[in-house]
Amino acid sequence: MSDAAISAVAELIADRAADRAAATPRPRRPRRLAQPDDVDQALRAIPPPEYVASLADADVPEHGGMVHCPLPDHDDRRPSCMVYAEPTRGWFCWGCSRGGTIYDLAAHVWGLRTRGDDFRELRHRLRAELLGGL
Ligand SMILES: [Zn+2]
Repeated sequence: MSDAAISAVAELIADRAADRAAATPRPRRPRRLAQPDDVDQALRAIPPPEYVASLADADVPEHGGMVHCPLPDHDDRRPSCMVYAEPTRGWFCWGCSRGGTIYDLAAHVWGLRTRGDDFRELRHRLRAELLGGL
């Protein structure tokens, strides 16, 4: 290969490296809402039997079990909602196919969504009612 060809190839490689560097996205700042904080962790650690009993004013066995659906729009004549003992499992109603976390239950009970301003409202109210304003 001639010197001219070698320098042409070297220039091409340098150009490509510069293009790649320019195309590399800058690291983004993490989204604030994606960071669980102390309140979120404390809320997510509350055992489902405790928060279902409190939010839905329902009788729930201490270690969980089947209860009448706590959702206001489900007239559940036979207990069809499973309340698990572990916070990671939450609750699930086999009658209306709804379930989830403490946030999902509070959203249904209070008529809020789990996003945006509604989510902030949920968190605020859950914090006041279940964590004593921690
Ligand atoms: Zn239900």
